Amino acid sequence: TLRAAPLPEDGAVEADRALRPQGLGEFIGQAEARANLRVFIQSARQRGEAMDHTLFHGPPGLGKTTLAQIVARELGVNFRMTSGPVLAKAGDLAAILTNLEARDVLFIDEIHRLNPAVEEVLYPAMEDFELDLVIGEGPAARTVRIELQPFTLVGATTRMGLLTTPLRDRFGIPTRLQFYTVDELFEIVSRNARKLGAPADDAGAREIARRARGTPRIAGRLLRRVVDFAVVEGDGRITQALADGALTRLGVDKLGLDGADRRYLKLIAENYGGGPVGIETLSAALSESRDALEEVIEPYLLQQGLIQRTPRGRMLAQKAWMHLGIAPPKSQSD
Ligand code: ADP
Repeated sequence: TLRAAPLPEDGAVEADRALRPQGLGEFIGQAEARANLRVFIQSARQRGEAMDHTLFHGPPGLGKTTLAQIVARELGVNFRMTSGPVLAKAGDLAAILTNLEARDVLFIDEIHRLNPAVEEVLYPAMEDFELDLVIGEGPAARTVRIELQPFTLVGATTRMGLLTTPLRDRFGIPTRLQFYTVDELFEIVSRNARKLGAPADDAGAREIARRARGTPRIAGRLLRRVVDFAVVEGDGRITQALADGALTRLGVDKLGLDGADRRYLKLIAENYGGGPVGIETLSAALSESRDALEEVIEPYLLQQGLIQRTPRGRMLAQKAWMHLGIAPPKSQSD
């Protein structure tokens, strides 16, 4: 099923929508990606053409969907949204493509999970704005070619490595999103706190920013919970003490790691002497899918220098032992 997601209307009541930045100018962070997109958007507008196909990749919650919506808005075109797993048959995608208007943005989330038969349809659509539909089966089958309006495909993936080469090669604008700095998250938290009517002082906003795992989605979630504590147990204002107390009660530690992160680190420390240990072993021991470990848990631990990936598996870094308050085995400490 196609979920056509219209752009949020002014005064949208749903909190998440109200907090979503609406234009490139309002979007904090990802400076390099933003500067490049500004050029590509302006060029497409001036030439009156569809912008080139764009691929956003990076961990969940960094703003891929938000940027795709912003691109459509800044191009002044419609935004259509679907995702890899919901496009079960070639016909599902064909139906969406034939309904696009000229220069529209079609956003496909989790594009690494497209069924190969659907992906085949995408190649000529992306390259020549054409659909080759096979009608009938067996010897009676024939191909009809349908012209499409020129459009911009914006793909999003948490796993660049799982994209097939032909698909990856068809994106003119591959863009990697980075974890946000504490300063960037501080700005996002401060702004959103004001929007939620629960002003945060600088130290309070910074405490949330520091513990948001470099991720705006997590910053938003933590902020909402801290607001709950501020309203019920404080005077509605977010201070550092209030944020610290609330986040600690939520199981979010000083580095922003949550229970799942700590379980991962502790397992390697306590059961495997700090590693190296293979991802499949970790996956089985934690009852987490390998994908979840690789997409959600590991990127931030790697970025923070808490773990290392080696050819023989994952290893704890010195910083992780210190964070866990566990002494590393003798062979590692010297
Ligand atoms: P992704 O598609 O990468 O998983 P989303 O675009 O859905 O991430 O963003 C997750 C949440 O974080 C949304 O609520 C969005 O409003 C917010 N967000 C993302 N990037 C920013 C940003 N740069 N500034 C403010 N909020 C952001």
